[in-house]
Amino acid sequence: MHTFQMLRAQTPDDAVRLAAAGADSAPRPIRFLAGGTTLVDLMKLDVEQPQQVIDINRLPFDQVEQTADGGLKIGALVRNSDLANHPLVMQRYPALSQALLSGASAQLRNMATTGGNLLQRTRCVYFRDTATACNKRQPGSGCAAMDGFHRNLAILGISDQCIATNPSDMNVALTALEATIHVQGAGGARMIPINDFYLLPGATPQRETVLAPGELVTHVSLAAPVANAGSTYLKLRDRASYEFALSSAAVLIGVNGGSISHARVALGGVGTRPWRSPEAEAVLQGAAPNVDTFARAAAASVRDARTHRDNAFKVDLIQRCLVQALKIAVSPARRSA
Ligand code: SF4
Repeated sequence: MHTFQMLRAQTPDDAVRLAAAGADSAPRPIRFLAGGTTLVDLMKLDVEQPQQVIDINRLPFDQVEQTADGGLKIGALVRNSDLANHPLVMQRYPALSQALLSGASAQLRNMATTGGNLLQRTRCVYFRDTATACNKRQPGSGCAAMDGFHRNLAILGISDQCIATNPSDMNVALTALEATIHVQGAGGARMIPINDFYLLPGATPQRETVLAPGELVTHVSLAAPVANAGSTYLKLRDRASYEFALSSAAVLIGVNGGSISHARVALGGVGTRPWRSPEAEAVLQGAAPNVDTFARAAAASVRDARTHRDNAFKVDLIQRCLVQALKIAVSPARRSA
């Protein structure tokens, strides 16, 4: 591990000021420390080599609050376990609770935060191994995964530079729920729809989000739940716990008068970012909520898939996952009032 300077922010303004001051003088990056479940791991592996680490755990971002319009404000420091078990989340956004509880282990969920989960890094084995070529870790060095171990990597949104998946479950549910990410930086505060937050790898896989250096995630907001809509998060993986998704689906489906009136679909384990599928949503919108519709939506969701030697199975797996998630979401037991 490289040596680094440890700072502690007392207020949000303090955190942003420290980050801005550090960015002007430090040759290596500045990182905010919350739960540390990703950052500290990667620092031990020398993948992350920050010059300064700014501890933000004293900032007032640890609350889940209902908003005046019936939505939810989730502080960036709310722990994954607290968010998953919050009564408002369990009752009104069950797919989010299910996604959180399907991730990592109970111990990790007790430490990991909402903001940290949003910025979770890929589990591509080469990204975490500094002896190998990885364009995301070392731009221009190549991609060992292309001809190496890539069974768990992406089939949607890939580039010739990188095929790494976004590993988060929470981010998939937040994408289906059309969350908004609120950030604060030296230039002030701004709001970013989650669908605009993550970047495709393209020629610059080292850039994963639209965050500017030193910008701090303060909270996430959700709109009020859609009336008479059902939702679920379904995750398929090699073992039942403490494992990342090979395929997952978060869906939010409203049914009115025998046809689908509201359809939001996000996929995990298959995309280089949490993967919203407008193709699937277009098939679902206005159609009858039956298995034939769901199968056509699933086929549409993989129309642009590009596979490599060992991950072609995901084209079939994600379709099965999405069909099953849609069946669950439209069941009467899943509909909200
Ligand atoms: Fe690195 Fe991306 Fe290639 Fe994995 S897939 S080795 S993260 S460039």
